Amino acid sequence: MQRDNSDAGSRFIVTLGDLDYKGGTNAQKGSYAMQFDRTIKIAPSILSADFANFGAECQAIEAQGCDWVHVDVMDGHFVPNITFGPATCSAIRPHIKGVMDVHLMIAPVDPYIEAFAASGADFITAHVEAGPHIHRTLQAIRGAGAKAGVALNPATRAEEVEYLLDMVDMVCVMTVNPGFGGQKFIHSQVEKVRKLRAMIGDRPIHIEIDGGVDPTTAPLVAAAGADVLVAGSAVFRGGSVSNPAPYGENIRAIREAANKALA
Ligand SMILES: [Zn+2]
Repeated sequence: MQRDNSDAGSRFIVTLGDLDYKGGTNAQKGSYAMQFDRTIKIAPSILSADFANFGAECQAIEAQGCDWVHVDVMDGHFVPNITFGPATCSAIRPHIKGVMDVHLMIAPVDPYIEAFAASGADFITAHVEAGPHIHRTLQAIRGAGAKAGVALNPATRAEEVEYLLDMVDMVCVMTVNPGFGGQKFIHSQVEKVRKLRAMIGDRPIHIEIDGGVDPTTAPLVAAAGADVLVAGSAVFRGGSVSNPAPYGENIRAIREAANKALA
C-alpha cells in the first residue's frame, strides 16, 4: 500500500494484482468512538437494500435511526452467493455518517484486508472457517487500522474463539447459514451467545447477531448477551428510498423488542 498525497484527502491506493484500487481515507471513517457500551445497536444489512441505490439507501436507514450499517461481502466461494467488493464499500462510505461494519464472507481473506480497511471500514469481520490462520487475519485487520471482528457459522463451537478474545472487538454469531438474506433464525445459536457472553466477561467485545433477526428473535439474543443486531429484510421490508418511514418503524420495533428483554 502506498500513500498518494496528490489530493487533499490523501487517499490510499491499494494494488490488488494489476488492479489499482483507490480507497477512502481515515478521515472518511465513521463516528465510532473509542468508548464501548453494550446498549442495543441496530445494524441494517444492505444485502436487503436496492443494489442500484446503495448511497441513498444508507442515508435513508441512518436518517430513520439505525446505529451501524452492515455490509455483507460474499465471494461465491466461501459462501454460495456473490455481492460486491472493496470498490463498492469505498463508494458507499461517504454516504454513511456512522459505523460501516464490513462482514467478509470470503476466502482467502488476508489479501483483501488492506483494501477493505482503505475503503473506510470501521469494523472488518472475518470468519473462523475461512482459513487456518484466523489469528494472523485478526492481527492484520487491527494492523490495517480497523476494529477486528470474528464470525462463527452455526455449526462452529463458541470455544473456537477462546484464544482470540484478547485480539477482537466483536464476535459475530451467524444465526443463519451465511450466503443469503431472508432466512429463518436458527434457535440453537441462542445458547452459543450465552456461552460467548460468559467467556467474554468484562472485555470490551461486542456480540453481533447476523441472520433472521426480527422483533420475535431479537429479545432472545438480547437476553443472552448480544448487543449488535444485524437485520436485513426485517428493516427494509415495506419501505424504499422514496418511502423510508417503514425503515424507521421496523428499526424501532426490533430495538424496542430487544430492550424489553433487558428491562
Ligand atoms: Zn453479515
